[in-house]
This record gives sequence, structure tokens and C-alpha cells, in this order.
Amino acid sequence: MKIEGYAGICACCFVPVKNGEEYRFPVSKTTFHARCIEQYPNSYYIRRERRRSKKRAAK
Ligand SMILES: [Zn+2]
Repeated sequence: MKIEGYAGICACCFVPVKNGEEYRFPVSKTTFHARCIEQYPNSYYIRRERRRSKKRAAK
């Protein structure tokens, strides 16, 4: 889903992420709020993306 002025939907809290507030793990296309990464580092989706990102980056 693409909304003008927004980078995507946060996979942690499911709220649209404004451009400039987004965070993506290296080689990942999943969008999070930078603040969600800070606030919920143990969120299931954040842990999963972090793990996937490391796996992909290792190749
Ligand atoms: Zn969020």
C-alpha cells in the first residue's frame, strides 16, 4: 500500500510511517518506525526481521 508522504506501514504497530521516520534493516523491505525499533526491540516482528536481515547479510 502506497500513501503520499508515507514510507509504508509499520510492521510493528501497523500505523503508517511518515517519510523520514522509517527504519529498515539492511537488505530488508519491511518498514518500521525508528521509534518502534527503540521502544519495542523485543517485538516479534522486529526480532524476526532482525534475524532475517542478519541471515541475508551473511550470504
Ligand atoms: Zn510503529
